[in-house]
Amino acid sequence: MNIKEIKAKSILRKHKKIDSWFISCYAMNLYRGCLHNCVYCDGRTEKYQIQGEFGKDIEIKINAIEILQRELDPKRKRKPFKKCFMMVGGGACDGYQKTEEKYQLTRNVLHLIEKFGYPVQLLTKSTLIERDLDVIKRINEKSRAIVNFSFSSVDEKISQIFEPNVPSPEKRLNTINLFKRNGISCGMFLMPVIPFLTDSPEMIENSIRKAKDAGVDYIIFSGMTLKIGRQQDYFYSQLKKHFPNLISKYHNIYKGDKWGNVTHEYYSTINQRFDSLTNKFQMPKRMPLHLFQNILDENDKVMLILEHIDYLLKLKGQISPYGYAAWSISKLDQPLTETRQKLRSIKGVGSVTEKIIKEILDTGNSSYYKKLME
Ligand code: SF4
Repeated sequence: MNIKEIKAKSILRKHKKIDSWFISCYAMNLYRGCLHNCVYCDGRTEKYQIQGEFGKDIEIKINAIEILQRELDPKRKRKPFKKCFMMVGGGACDGYQKTEEKYQLTRNVLHLIEKFGYPVQLLTKSTLIERDLDVIKRINEKSRAIVNFSFSSVDEKISQIFEPNVPSPEKRLNTINLFKRNGISCGMFLMPVIPFLTDSPEMIENSIRKAKDAGVDYIIFSGMTLKIGRQQDYFYSQLKKHFPNLISKYHNIYKGDKWGNVTHEYYSTINQRFDSLTNKFQMPKRMPLHLFQNILDENDKVMLILEHIDYLLKLKGQISPYGYAAWSISKLDQPLTETRQKLRSIKGVGSVTEKIIKEILDTGNSSYYKKLME
């Protein structure tokens, strides 16, 4: 492990629009690089510009707390923060990797979030998060905290190969259970499922069953992207070592898409598989509304529900107009109640979408959405 301490100029990143997976529009990375060294990690891609050897070299943003103290202070903001979760983790680093034991940047960020009263979401693969149960509980009581764990499956052997420096799936599930017993809502990020290794019906079913037993509130699912360059080269080198017979099958589904996507047929197969298995276990496939409905403002809530409907329909292989309407609403400056009479003038909003929007404005929910989430 090579540690380099660096000074960052800024920490908080604002998304252009609220993220429908995390219900967040602010994110932060406190480290550059990740010692967990997952074989499939997207953090290896050139776009992140992570220096040195990924998985071994790590940069610590040593002044992160000092900067965030200023960035998070609402008194120093000309425009108030959007109402949503602050996201800690995700991106190309895990906030609870080994270096956190000593540097405690994530813990200190949580103290700032507690002080300023923001809701927070965390995403990790590390059981070190148990150390921060005390502060996470306090945030949850005050403004809400949600803890998410990512898994490629719950198979111990696959995890040892593809997530070499991460606590085993069983340990992660136990940690989820600990947080649940302490009143904290938890999500499983079943992503990425690894083609031909963790994407079978049996593997996905096992992951959902164990997540349900641990008490998770929802599961977010995704396939694996392999971008040409460092990420793909490293993944294929490990695949060749452990599962050489799969190489040709991979070449059949990764055909050089610039975002590293697999073929449409493959995505449809695994999405429909996940859809029917989560139905079987009555497991929500998106964060349930009751966990975020009091946090968002009106437009964002409508936009989020439309995006969720869009996702749930596409998961079943159906065409959906709702994503476009959601995108248009994300660009509006006025509250939707003020444009209630002119909803059809919003791009992508037809008569059915208009009805859904009005129902959300009147009741806080949509019966169509509720049905899809069941
Ligand atoms: S824990 Fe996440 S960020 Fe870290 S190596 Fe694994 S996939 Fe990448």
